[in-house]
Amino acid sequence: MATFFSLKQCIYSSTLDKNSIFYCGDEEAKLIGGNVPGDDYTPDRPDLEQEVIITNINNLMNKCVNPIKTQYPDVVITSVYRSKTLNKYIGGVDESQHMYGYASDLVSINNFKSYEIFNWVIDQNIDFDQMIWEFPEKGNGINGSWVHISYKSNNNRRKTSLASKSSTLHKKYGGVQIGEYQHDIKRAYPEYIMEESENVEPPVSKHPNADQVEKGNGFYVIIEKQYENDTYNVSDSRLISVEVKDEDMNVIYKSETYTYVNEGQQQTLIDYAKKQI
Ligand SMILES: [Zn+2]
Repeated sequence: MATFFSLKQCIYSSTLDKNSIFYCGDEEAKLIGGNVPGDDYTPDRPDLEQEVIITNINNLMNKCVNPIKTQYPDVVITSVYRSKTLNKYIGGVDESQHMYGYASDLVSINNFKSYEIFNWVIDQNIDFDQMIWEFPEKGNGINGSWVHISYKSNNNRRKTSLASKSSTLHKKYGGVQIGEYQHDIKRAYPEYIMEESENVEPPVSKHPNADQVEKGNGFYVIIEKQYENDTYNVSDSRLISVEVKDEDMNVIYKSETYTYVNEGQQQTLIDYAKKQI
């Protein structure tokens, strides 16, 4: 398995960077409790020793991050190791697995979405301790939703979780909401997000011609008819017939004739079709 990210990248902090504070053991970084594995070590906390944390980071990369990066080359890591101070500073949860080098946050810089990574990892039977679909309501891209994944040296639980500020989304999952979290979700369901906002595109139908989808009522398919010459073409109008199919694509209603309509009239035909089923 290829190695993609260096240790330096794994302890990089954009927060420190933004403030022109260097990482990787710089005195300046240490002054503000910078981001060097081992900084939090005390004799009663051997689990915070530099060597232990670096081993954890390497295991995490080998077992989780590298396979994901191989499948999705557009994945980048935004946060892996965080010292206690940095973790507190950026608002990470107490006892965050990032403080042990167990956890990585992954985001796409390009086309695919956080839910794809999440579901792919589940399907691949990749071993992990916890995977979180983080704030899907933030949308896609580098500043959007991300996937948190962790790997420990033993007792990896394959625990899946959702983090979201949307109570509607939590309700759709129907489990127990603990703060912003809900645990043991089976998959990431992007359609739960789409249905939630009025400003996003409607869910994509299975049928390429479907103009409108209504849950439980089947698919409203607009069928356009084109004449070979333009004689019957009325500007801004379409010659259509409305067909309604159920989820298995059986036709359950079809209008008897083709009608010239503009957009508003098309809705009237769809409304009429709805009443017929
Ligand atoms: Zn994280």
